[in-house]
Amino acid sequence: MENGSSTARWCFRGNEAMTTESVSTIRGVLTEIYRNINEADPRPIIPLGHGDPSAFPCFRTTPIAEDAVADAVRSAKFNGYASTVGILPARRAISEYLSKDLPYKLSPDDIYLTLGCNQAIEVVLAVLARPNANILLPRPGFPTYEARAAFNRLEVRHFDLLPEKGWEVDLDTVEALADKNTVAMVIINPGNPCGNIFTYEHLKKVAETVRKLGILVIADEVYHHLAFGSNPFVPMGVFASIAPVITVGSISKRWVVPGWRLGWLVTNDPNGILQEYGIVDCIKAYLNISPDPATFIQGAVPQILEKTKDDFFSKIVDILRQDADIFYSRIKEIPCITCPSKPEGCMFVMVKLNQTLLEDIKDDFDFCVKLAKEESVIVLPGVTVGLKNWLRITFAAEPSSLEDGLARVKAFCQRHVKKQ
Ligand SMILES: *Cc1c(COP(=O)(O)O)cnc(C)c1O
Repeated sequence: MENGSSTARWCFRGNEAMTTESVSTIRGVLTEIYRNINEADPRPIIPLGHGDPSAFPCFRTTPIAEDAVADAVRSAKFNGYASTVGILPARRAISEYLSKDLPYKLSPDDIYLTLGCNQAIEVVLAVLARPNANILLPRPGFPTYEARAAFNRLEVRHFDLLPEKGWEVDLDTVEALADKNTVAMVIINPGNPCGNIFTYEHLKKVAETVRKLGILVIADEVYHHLAFGSNPFVPMGVFASIAPVITVGSISKRWVVPGWRLGWLVTNDPNGILQEYGIVDCIKAYLNISPDPATFIQGAVPQILEKTKDDFFSKIVDILRQDADIFYSRIKEIPCITCPSKPEGCMFVMVKLNQTLLEDIKDDFDFCVKLAKEESVIVLPGVTVGLKNWLRITFAAEPSSLEDGLARVKAFCQRHVKKQ
């Protein structure tokens, strides 16, 4: 046998749309930052980089949800394959749960179960990716959308979220960016990475803008109801009679169980436009060839949604509010970091780094690497979510850990501040 490399010509290549140069992900960047942790530091690592507080004892999910999963497994009713859109009792429970916040009633047929919100994003972008199509994404945003768009060769155009306006969408740029090949715009509310909540009036303007443009809204509401400021959470589906809305969500964040991988895609479409334009058929076709969430998790959904008590939800929101208060007062004590507005929802906040005040810190990435090395605190460089020389900080932590982490950030900045 000859050794192939010198004589054979191979026709395959890695898909260039999937290389790390074309796609940056939060997980990829955080892995790089974690590599700088100093093993000799006896202090615990404070993870303020990602949005999974499930390891903190105060964020443990409700026993109702744990029992629901155990009951579903023990019932032996959920050992088989599920239907590709998800089992009916789960879709019915989700339609009733979401309809509570809407002026009309969703049907179980509007609900598709997915492997977390993540797979719902995968489905919707794959379904919309026709040749030459483009999609409008927020900046700063959630890089899974950019990565998914790249995999599907869907052109991305960014509109800005405006820090001076509480991170509202710059609707003038949205109109300027769109053309006849634009298919959708994405909004994330409650906002990752900005920690903002869009008002009713602003969401209505979003709906009127997309109607004018003839596109649909993809509303990422994975943080639904995690709101603790002056604006209440309003689902985008409220405005679905103005323009069709595809909502993506999951139990991952509200129940603090991202590992359970149960999400949904919802067609909020009282006028039947998504059906008429072939979107619904494409969603079903895509799900026919996709893996499904584990059937016993689907089986647990009715109990989880129907039996979880309000006191669990308010406990989680109260901790997040307390964390946001701690965050906002501590961050004000750090001159090289400014926070344009106090977070009102979600688990994250964007803060601006004034690295000109710092010695030997090149940029946001350099800041995060050195912070990990010297203080064992992990935060995400803003460049990962589209804003260079900003930082995305997770405040969803045990309050005492958050205090500890922010004290270390302060000490780090004091040590690196330029001496006159
Ligand atoms: C966490 C997150 C997701 C993914 O949710 P899963 O249910 O864990 O798949 C999607 N969108 C945003 C904005 C998120 O922060």
